[in-house]
This record gives sequence, structure tokens and C-alpha cells, in this order.
Amino acid sequence: MEDYGFNTSLLHDIKEENPYGATMVPVYQSSAFFHKSAEELERIFANKAMGFSYTRINNPTIEVFEKKITKLEKGIASVACASGMAALSNAFLNILQAGDEIVAAAGLYSGTVDLLHDIEAFGIKTVYVKENRPEEFEKLITDKTRVVFAETIGNPKLDITDIAAVAEVAHRHKVPLLIDNTVASPYLTRPLELGADIVVNSSSKYINGSSNAISGILTDGGSFQWDGERYPGLKNYLKYGKMAYIARLRNGLFRNIGACLSPQNAFLNCIGLETLGLRMERECANALELAKYLISLDVGITVNYPGLESSEYHEIAKKQMKNGYGAILTFRAGSKERAFKIVNGLKIPYILSNIGDTKTLVIHPESTLAIHLTKEEKEATGVFDDLIRVSVGIENIEDLKADFKQAILNA
Ligand SMILES: *Cc1c(COP(=O)(O)O)cnc(C)c1O
Repeated sequence: MEDYGFNTSLLHDIKEENPYGATMVPVYQSSAFFHKSAEELERIFANKAMGFSYTRINNPTIEVFEKKITKLEKGIASVACASGMAALSNAFLNILQAGDEIVAAAGLYSGTVDLLHDIEAFGIKTVYVKENRPEEFEKLITDKTRVVFAETIGNPKLDITDIAAVAEVAHRHKVPLLIDNTVASPYLTRPLELGADIVVNSSSKYINGSSNAISGILTDGGSFQWDGERYPGLKNYLKYGKMAYIARLRNGLFRNIGACLSPQNAFLNCIGLETLGLRMERECANALELAKYLISLDVGITVNYPGLESSEYHEIAKKQMKNGYGAILTFRAGSKERAFKIVNGLKIPYILSNIGDTKTLVIHPESTLAIHLTKEEKEATGVFDDLIRVSVGIENIEDLKADFKQAILNA
């Protein structure tokens, strides 16, 4: 394969094989696939032949989407799921059992914090670092730890995980590093290249890009040495070598939980992926300019954006991120009342709980996304009652600047 640049690669790396020369992957909207003989279907079920049998397990359209993400994230294989949360649940539960512990970063997406609460009922406990620094992770690792988990860019804390350093810590303790790369997307950071072992993307966000389908995908780097004693669920799959983790997932938990993606949504993601680079380029440029502009208004709001030198995580962002600093910024309005007035006064952004759209979106996280969290969890995840999160879109920046200015000055 040629060594193409990011955008060329998105458009041309995988030429879909189909008999009519369609330039888009066909949507195989079929629940099941027939075969010529009982022997052939037996070989597929026994993993002795490639092929499709039932869309809950895999499907040709979904497979094209998986291959594209595997390439982008520089992994060895991916499994696409019905949502980002489904991908995270599968990623954790594929290797964990009662008695195991997760060491997790502090500034996590609140849905993930909820999930980690839920799996306590199955005897899987999570401990959280207070500050997102490599040495803090090491302090919490015990002989029960079976996975270290962090987000490339915490949402909405906007803390940046030093992936290479945290991977080194995890590996020293024979534990894999699982990274949620949703907020960065593979355009800005490729965690597997930095030493992470498994990466999850909620493809509902930047990968899809236009918010027209919920989905998630996990990608294995294939480099972690699984030990059948420490990870008993993988014992029977070690014969698949590098593919052990993915083989267990597709033959076990993933198909049995029934978290499959729909072929139509895989197709929509393939369309979205073509412009991932272009959209991110514009969204990151807009976010940086808007962040600087909000500060320049000098009206008592504090702005948090990894691209600003004032961000505690600017240095690691500069070292680790390619092409930009992300498209999310947050700012503190001084009080909840003022925050609500600003949100209500904006004319362009939609008020909704999502990120990664072509359109600019705003939300007051404390009263929405973080509503299930305790006061301590809110603080640890960087959520304050005067905080507004902005997911910056591809609009003309002058329009965004003017709209934020009028909303802030009138609040
Ligand atoms: C949205 C999001 C998720 C969950 O993804 P869904 O597709 O909504 O299930 C997980 N992690 C992060 C960082 C997210 O932003």
C-alpha cells in the first residue's frame, strides 16, 4: 500500500470490491447469508474459513467500516458496535471478571463513569486517579488491576493523557492500556502508535461527523502479551496469537450481548469518514480562534482549551497531538445563572448533548451530562455549575465570534 497522506488515505486506501464498480460500499441490508453447502457453513462457524453468516456477528458493509478504522488507528482488527458505550462495555468485559480492578483517569466522560458504577454489581471495581499524571496511575495499580483506562482528551475536563508514559506504567505491571479516543479522533492522536493496547472510538461523534447515526468501534493493536492465568477468559483464545482479544470478543461476548451495528449506520459512517480530516482541520482552527477571542473580550470568563498556553495540559498536547488541539472548549461564566443566559442567548449553536458535529453545539454539563454524578465526581471530572461546553463546528468563524460576543455581553 502506498504511503498516502491522511485525506488521500481516507478516500483511496480501501477500494471496495464489488462487481458493479460502485465507489461507495454497498449496504448489505441482510440479516443472514446463505452458503452453497452445509460443509461451507460449518467451516465458517468453526473459524476455518472467512465468510459471513449472520449480521449480529458480522456483515460485509460493517466489515468495510471496521477495516477503515483499523487502518486509521494503525491496529490489527476492529469490532464495530451499536454505540460508543457498547464498544466500551465490550472492551472492558472481554477481559475482566469478578475480583478485577480498573485504574481509570479522573476526567472521564460521565456515561463511562455510570457504566463503571454499573459493573460494580458484577464484582469489578474502579479506582480513579485524582490528577491525570502517569505517576498517579502507578500509585493505584495493585495485583488485582487488570486494565488501565483513560481518554486521550477528557470530556469535558479537557485534560490530556500522556499515553506513552501511562502505557509504560501499565506495561511494567503487565496490564494493558485501554484508551477512549473519541474526543481526539485518529486525526489528532493515534493511541496505538503511542503504546496503548486497545482503542475505542464513539464513532457517533467526529468519525460520523454529521450526527446521523449512533455507533462505536474498538480496535486492537495486537501487541499486548495476554497471560491466560491473569486473563482466564482469553485462555482458550491464545492459540489465535495476536488476534486472541478480538477472536474472543467476536466469538463470545460481542455476539452474545448482541451489540452489533446496523449495516446502514456503517454505511453512513463510511460517508462521514471521507471528510474526517477536512472537518477536523476546520473545527480545530475555529476552536482555537474562538478560544482566543473569548479571552480577548475580557469580560470575566475563563476559557479552557488545550491549545492555549494557560491549559495545564498544553505541553503534553503540543507533544502528543498532530494537526491541532481538538474542537472542544469550555468556559466558566462566573455563575450558573449567567451560564444559562449565555446558552439561551446564542443564536447559532444548538443546545444539545453531543459533540463532533459539523454544527456548533453547546451544553451546560453540570445540569445534564453529569446529573447522575456525586459532587466529588463532578469536581473530579472538571464539571462546575458555571461551566459551558462548546463543540465547535465548521461555520464561518466571524459568525461564531459575533454570536458568542452578543450572547456574553447581553447575559
Ligand atoms: C459520546 C461518548 C461516548 C459514548 O458514545 P455513544 O456513541 O454515545 O454511546 C464515550 N466516550 C466519549 C468520550 C464520548 O464523548
